[in-house]
Order: sequence, then C-alpha cells, then structure tokens
Amino acid sequence: MDLSLTEEQTMIQDMARRFAETELAPVAAKLDKGSDREVFLANLKQLADLGFMGLNISAEYGGTEAGVVAFSVAMTEIARACASTAVTMSVTNMVAEVIQAIATAEQKRTYLPGLCGGDSPAGSFCLSEAGAGSDPAGMRTRAVRDGDEWVLNGTKMWISSAEYAGVFVVWAVTDPELPRGKGISCFLVEAGTPGLTIGKAEEKMGQHASSTNSVIFEDCRIPDTALMGVLNDGYRIAVEELAGGRIGIGSLALGLGLAAMDYARAYITERQQFGKPVSSMQGPQWMLADAYTELEAARLLLLSAASLKARGEPFMKQAAMAKVYATEAANRACYTAIQLTGGIGYTEECPLERYARDARVTSIYEGTSEIQRVIIARELLREL
Ligand SMILES: Cc1cc2nc3c(=O)[nH]c(=O)nc-3n(C[C@H](O)[C@H](O)[C@H](O)COP(=O)(O)OP(=O)(O)OC[C@H]3O[C@@H](n4cnc5c(N)ncnc54)[C@H](O)[C@@H]3O)c2cc1C
Repeated sequence: MDLSLTEEQTMIQDMARRFAETELAPVAAKLDKGSDREVFLANLKQLADLGFMGLNISAEYGGTEAGVVAFSVAMTEIARACASTAVTMSVTNMVAEVIQAIATAEQKRTYLPGLCGGDSPAGSFCLSEAGAGSDPAGMRTRAVRDGDEWVLNGTKMWISSAEYAGVFVVWAVTDPELPRGKGISCFLVEAGTPGLTIGKAEEKMGQHASSTNSVIFEDCRIPDTALMGVLNDGYRIAVEELAGGRIGIGSLALGLGLAAMDYARAYITERQQFGKPVSSMQGPQWMLADAYTELEAARLLLLSAASLKARGEPFMKQAAMAKVYATEAANRACYTAIQLTGGIGYTEECPLERYARDARVTSIYEGTSEIQRVIIARELLREL
C-alpha cells in the first residue's frame, strides 16, 4: 500500500506549513488571549486566498479540488501553529461540503464562492442544542412553513464561528410526527437575517480566538429557497457530513500533538540535569518513543479514512477510529510534553499549556470519544 503523498498534496502541505510558521505561529499566543479579532479574521482571509477554505470543493464554485488527503495534511500543519484558526478552517470546509453535497446549483453559486474565497470569513454548522448534543435527533428547533417562507424558532448551542460567519447551515424539525431523526431538514440562513441573534459567547478552556456562541432563532423568516436538500432528510446529511468533519478534527488534534512533542523533544536535548541532557536518560526517551509512535499511528489512521472518503468508499468507521485515536493520542502527547519540560512547561513561557488546553475539546466536539466508540462498535456489528 502506497501511503506517500502526491506532488500536489506535498505542495499544499508545504504551503500550509509555511503559512502557519510565518503568519500564524507569531500571533497564536496573542490570539489565545482573545484580544485581536482583526488579526484572526485577516488570517482567515489569507487562508481563503490560499485556497484552504474549499479544499474539497469543485473549482466551478471557487474551490481548490485538492481532495480529502490534502485537506487532512493541511489541517495538521495549520493546527501546529494555531488551533483556533484550524478549527475555523475545518468547520468552514465542512459547511462548504454540506452545501456541495446537497444544495441546488443556484444555492451553490450563491454561497460557495464566498465561503471558499473568504468574502464570508467562515461558515457555521448549527446542529447542537442545550438538550441535544450527542443525540442531535432530539433537537427542538422548529421550522414551520408559512406561505412561501419557513419560520425558524429555537436555540442552537456552542456554535463555532457564529460571531463572524456569513452563512449558517441550520438543522430544524420540519415534521414532528415522523419517527426520531426522520422529520429534520437542513436550511441555509444568511448572517443578518431578521430573527437570527448571536447569543452569549462561551468562556472556554482553550481555542480562545475561535468564537463559540448560542444562535437564537425567533420567528426568523427565511425563503422557500433556503431549504437545502430533501425535506425531512436533513438528519442523514448531518450524520454523513460529521463523519468527514471528524477527519478534520483528528488532523487538527494530530497537529497539536506533534507541535507539543516537537517542542519537548528539542527542549530535552538542551536541558541539563545531573550533569547531562535530559534526552540522554532512558525514561524520557521512552516517553518520547511512545508519544511519537501513537502520533504516527494517528497519522496513518487519518490517511486511511481520508483515502477512503476520497475514493468514494464507506469511511464512517475509519473516520470515527481516526478521530477517537488521534484526539486521545494528542491529549496524551500534550501532557507528556508538559511532563518532559517540567515546571517551565506548565507556564506561559512556552506554548505547551496552550496546546494542552486547545487539544482538550477535540475529543468532545464533532462527537465525543464515547460517541466515536458507539459508532465504531455499531459499524463492526453491522459488518457481521
Ligand atoms: C468549543 C466547542 C465548539 C463546538 N462547536 C459546535 C458547532 O460548531 N456546531 C455544533 O452543532 N455543535 C458544536 N459543539 C457542540 C459539541 O458537538 C457537543 O458539545 C458534543 O457533541 C457533546 O454534546 P454535549 O455537550 O451535549 O454532551 P452530552 O451529549 O450531554 O454528553 C455528556 C457525556 O455523556 C456521554 N454520552 C452521551 N451519550 C452517550 C452514549 N450513547 N454512550 C456513551 N456515552 C454517552 C458523552 O460522551 C459525554 O461524556 C461545540 C462544542 C464545543 C465545546
């Protein structure tokens, strides 16, 4: 099996690495303090100009057509420098992919060029609610037909990029009489639509530069043409698109784990204790070996899931395996890196505490680790 990257994938990886090192890494700590929205948005625009907001989107609609593997490796490079930028890139690519998958040609022409080209700084994926996180089929947001309009009412929770998104992909119950998960549809809502309010910004443990808010719909009227895909078939779409999104989040986590361990590896070769470098001691060497082995395994799982998706083959199980493994390995790597660097690793003198805070949510959003295991087991049993 040849797992090497193509020339184009390597070029995109290099481009992402250069951009991350020159533009993102120098400001990431400052952005973590949450104070510089303009710089953050300018970086998103530059990412779009490089083609990173529509990596798997057709060129006809402004995308790069670079494919899923390129998306995965680019995501890892961006996350090595700034996880907040990376998650915005991941969700925006996912929103663009939902539109590409089910929207009409007119809807694609209206929304995709803006998302891919950066005129719309980001897209938001509005699925979760206060009472419906792991179980989104339990959502209560309603969309009711009124003449040639839909009227949305309800509140979405923890929505990434809501403060600066140009377009929101929103799931709502359209037929409460149908069995759970069957009467849900998907809508496109533009920022600034009357009745759409961006609610409280969450104070988070990490990924501070990326906004996370509630999104409130109060008699929010959207036209008939805002319905995306088939009426009452939206839940299936959410489940399918989340599988692709998990490749993005796993790749993001891998970037954080690698950044943390690369920092610790360099540090222990310099740091002297007992008259010799810490890297010459067998205990730290084993920690190094275990962390990099896990991260390499994560990389291979991600490549496997991305390749399956790129070939149009089923990838639900592999994406869940890659996400649960990569995010948990990355969390362990961040803590190992802090352990290897000792006291200074716990302080803001070095970026490890930020990486560890940023990594924590990767095993929660886009499906918790437990939900990934539920999916993996379900797929395994289905294969019998
Ligand atoms: C920073 C951030 C950004 C986010 N961005 C978005 C976004 O852009 N769009 C969006 O729609 N959502 C977003 N979310 C929401 C996120 O996807 C949910 O928080 C996540 O899916 C978990 O749902 P929950 O918080 O309701 O936890 P719950 O579902 O209440 O889970 C609580 C615990 O129960 C466990 N659990 C639940 N069900 C099972 C089960 N069947 N088996 C075993 N264990 C189970 C969970 O694993 C977890 O440990 C974001 C969340 C955060 C924190």
